[in-house]
This record gives sequence, structure tokens and C-alpha cells, in this order.
Amino acid sequence: MQYQSYQLHNYTSIPGIEKLPSIDRKAIEISGRILPFKTNNYVTEQLINWDNIPDDPVFTLCFPRRDMLRKEHYETVERLVDAQAGEAQLREAIHAIRNSLNPHPAGQYLNVPSMGDAPLNGMQHKYGETVLFFPGQGQTCHAYCSFCFRWSQFTGMKGMRFAEKETEHLVRYLRQHREVTDLLFTGGDPLVMSSAHINRYVDALLDNDLDNIRTIRFGTKSFAYWPYRYLTDADADDLLRIFDKIVRAGKHPAIMAHFSHPAELATTAVQEALKRVRSTGAQIRTQSPLLRHINDRPEIWSEMWRMQVNLQCIPYYMFVARDTGACEFFDIPLAGCWDIFRKAYRQVSGICRTVRGPIMSATPGKVQILGVSEVRNEKVFVLHFLQGRHPDWVARPFFAAYHPEATWLNMLEPAFGKTKFFFEEEHGMCEDRYELEEVAC
Ligand SMILES: *Cc1c(COP(=O)(O)O)cnc(C)c1O
Ligand code: SF4
Repeated sequence: MQYQSYQLHNYTSIPGIEKLPSIDRKAIEISGRILPFKTNNYVTEQLINWDNIPDDPVFTLCFPRRDMLRKEHYETVERLVDAQAGEAQLREAIHAIRNSLNPHPAGQYLNVPSMGDAPLNGMQHKYGETVLFFPGQGQTCHAYCSFCFRWSQFTGMKGMRFAEKETEHLVRYLRQHREVTDLLFTGGDPLVMSSAHINRYVDALLDNDLDNIRTIRFGTKSFAYWPYRYLTDADADDLLRIFDKIVRAGKHPAIMAHFSHPAELATTAVQEALKRVRSTGAQIRTQSPLLRHINDRPEIWSEMWRMQVNLQCIPYYMFVARDTGACEFFDIPLAGCWDIFRKAYRQVSGICRTVRGPIMSATPGKVQILGVSEVRNEKVFVLHFLQGRHPDWVARPFFAAYHPEATWLNMLEPAFGKTKFFFEEEHGMCEDRYELEEVAC
């Protein structure tokens, strides 16, 4: 299949789009100026059921719509477009709106490491064992998810791109930080890069005696959005050879594949792609946020996990939707997230129960909601860190007062009348908890 990209300028040529009422098409044109919008012919031809729009889950995942924005934001842009305002005026209004949508949630700037005095802008190092690397050519995706917290990276906002073209700093940093065992290529989607680029980065890791690096990870949505990356793209075979080379070097190629709905696992193309990659010895782990309107029923998750295991993948994380972008449209209260997780988890065998969730990837760390319980007549959330800004925080249960509407960590109060959570007391960080997540959505 030949890749055909659709964006605002040509989306009206998508077969099926004429089934969308004209008012919803206009809404794509308005909201698509603020939220990222890009899709392709695999998504529109094989994943979306056009007889089920606008409710179709993959349609909702890829197409911006009116309800994804606050009323006043939508109306501001609509007014300007209707009045045929100049590009400069539109750009300014859009920029202001985007800035109010928390483009860098969970304090991502806190995680940028430095060497000497120089910040290493293409990297993030938050948890001891794992460094994130943002290769310059991988800061885009085969299609964009309307909820994505990386959206500031591909909407061209100034100073908002974490990218690093050169490997030299990366290698030096990894040499100096022997505690790092995992290097995670991320983006955007690093597997948008040509195999030649990927090969250059991987060779830098393999050729420099970085024996502390045991696992090379790739975070990607390409199986769901463009499985031909592994099948028929001109450099598909070269990519498989890279995974193969990592295995032969005695390291672990780990693919963190993003799947949000069973529909993304059902085509022959994705199943063949998974099979080809697994045949190299690369392991594929799966993760997704939990999203209202897309995958907010337990059966969707249990089916997804079973399909993944059948296709030789390992279910890994279920995330709580982050507090950014269109989150008011997608978010589910924490209590509801836990309920969906628990009902899905109990329907599957232990082989699928490698999955952990629901998880908030927040400023202090990855916090898992273990459940809702009652202690000394007080209804509480039981939580713990799967990853912490300080390793000592990990795997220590802690309690927050139950709050039926809370959708994120910064909306929770400590239980039992305490004023601070243990991690706030111990390290003097987060003096004001409401500053914790930067701007809450
Ligand atoms: C999730 C995440 C990782 C990887 O965590 P694992 O639990 O090892 O998968 C690394 N760095 C950051 C900043 C993360 O958010
Ligand atoms: S594929 Fe990943 S990085 Fe790209 S838009 Fe979707 S969630 Fe964001």
C-alpha cells in the first residue's frame, strides 16, 4: 500500500468523509487548527467504519471535533475563520489557546538532563534506569491522535520540540551514567524515521562499548497507524535487520506498541507486521491510555489484551489520559478508571495480567491506582508508585481521600486529615501541590 497522508488541506478527498454532516466537517476545519490533525489511507480505508461515524472509535481517535475544545476556544477560532481573518491574527489566537492547554504536562522540562552546563534538549532522564531520546527525524507520526500529549511537538510551537539530531551527546551521557540500562527512542514516533537513520542511532549504541545498555526500546504507534512500515515500505526489511542486529549484539530490542482499540489489531496487515517483527526476536509490549468515547468499557480492554497475547505481545500499561490538549473530552474519573481496569483484568487469564494500570504518569512519578477501599471509616484511594522521581518512593502504598470526580493526581488530598503526601514531606518538593502538574486541564 502506498502511503497517502490526509491533513486539513486535503481531508475532503477522504472516501467516506461525505457521510459526515457538513456542520461536523466545518468543526474539523476549526478544531483541526488547534489540535493536531493528520491521518492516512490505511486508517481511513481499513480501520474506520464510515457507517458508524462520528461514534467510530478510530474516527474519534484521529479526527478533531467541536466537543474536544472548550466552547470559548472553539468560538474564538470560528469567529476569526468566518470573518476571514488574516493568517497572522489566526496564528496568534491559536497560539494563545494552545498555550492554555498545558502543552508540556507533568513537568517534562524538569526531566531534561545536562552535561556540564549544557542542557541536553533531545533527552529526558527521570527514572534512573531509563533515558528517553527524541531523535530529530522522529518527531512526527503516521497519523495523530486527537488526545496526544505530544501535540505541542508537531504543531510547530516554538521551543516546544524535544529533539536532538546528534548521537554524540547521547553516547557521552550514557557513558557517564552507568546506572542507565534502557535507552528508549520516542517522539512523536521514532519508527517514522527511515531505517538508515534508525540504523545510525542503533550503531552508535552498539559500537561504543556501552555495556550498561541492555535494552533498546522503541515507543511506537506504527503497528496501529501504518503496519506497512514492517511489510512493504521500501526499507521495511532493513528495519527488521536492525532488530535482528540488536538481538545478535546480545541486547534486548523492546517495542512499546501503542494500541487503543481492538480494531487496530484486527487487520491482516497488522497481524503480519507483528509476526514479522516477533520473528526477529524483538519483544512487543503494549500500552494505551484509557479514553472516554474510545475504549471506556472493560470488554474492550479484555478483548484487546487477549488479542495481543494471541499475537505474541505482552500487555504492559494502561494509562490514565493526561491532563493536556483535549482532555476534558477524553478523561474519566480515577474511580471509573479503576473500575474499568478491575472488570477487564478479572476477565482474562494470568497470561494477560502482566498489564498494570490504571497509571498516572505525573510529575512525581508513575502512580498506579490500586483501588478504592475503606480505612477507619474513611473511603480512600490506595495508590503506589511504579516509578518515582526518587527510587525510594517506589512500591510504598499510600492513601488519598476518595474524590468521585478527581481525574488526576493534583486533584487528590492525602487521607486521614494529613496535609501532605509522604513524597511531598520527604523531599521538600511540591510545596504547593497545585503547582505540581503545571496548569491542570
Ligand atoms: C514511563 C517512562 C519511562 C519508562 O518507564 P518503565 O516503567 O520502565 O516502562 C521512562 N521515562 C519516563 C519519563 C517515563 O514517563
Ligand atoms: S501516535 Fe503517539 S505520539 Fe503520535 S499522536 Fe498518537 S499518541 Fe501522540
